[in-house]
Amino acid sequence: MTTIQAEPDVETDPDAELKALAEQAGRDLEDASALEILQWAAKTFGKKFCVTSSMEDAVVAHLAARAMPGVDVVFLDTGYHFPETIGTRDAVEAVMDVNVITLTPRQTVAEQDAEYGPKLHDRNPDLCCAMRKIKPLEEGLTKYTAWATGLRRDESPTRASTPVVGWDEKRRKVKISPIARWTQDDVDAYVTEHGVLTNPLLMDGYPSVGCAPCTRRVLEGEDARAGRWAGRAKTECGLHD
Ligand code: SF4
Repeated sequence: MTTIQAEPDVETDPDAELKALAEQAGRDLEDASALEILQWAAKTFGKKFCVTSSMEDAVVAHLAARAMPGVDVVFLDTGYHFPETIGTRDAVEAVMDVNVITLTPRQTVAEQDAEYGPKLHDRNPDLCCAMRKIKPLEEGLTKYTAWATGLRRDESPTRASTPVVGWDEKRRKVKISPIARWTQDDVDAYVTEHGVLTNPLLMDGYPSVGCAPCTRRVLEGEDARAGRWAGRAKTECGLHD
């Protein structure tokens, strides 16, 4: 008598191949230029690839447009942005070869205030970020397989090990950080060389620009992100966990 033993019921990860591709690309492209990384992304994912931008500057959007003209640039309009940030978004849309997509939260600020009380950002910034940033981004990214960010390793200790290409376990997507290895000097040089649009607040004491209620000018000698959620333990909005 022949006994055939059933294979163990191994649960397979439907994204295992994509995850392996991302991790391999992270190793292969570690020394590649930002443009080469984005060219790889454009070739690999085509219209399933987008760039996210906080409109602090348009460096990654500019690089991505060189790799893939007309690329989708996703911007999160939390309802709390400085006018300069919205102006930068509008200028990017007007002059660059990109397709700007603005994502908004389900509730306006007034609706959120009515349900949760005013200034939720002061009382519970994690909840405010969850509703105004994380949820809209997750919904907006569903149609993409890969997304690019402007994260840099030198920005903060929490970003020091950012891979140039990696696997975003939370959103189950390939996450590309083409300028991860850049320094602020590299960014400044690229802006100057290519005449890239930047948020005017960068020249006004805000080296890192977020929502107006949660961003202040930094003081001499302070870390570039010291003005974000200043005085609170919070250092990240959760978009890059
Ligand atoms: Fe709310 Fe501040 Fe987060 Fe913006 S950064 S979503 S205002 S808590």
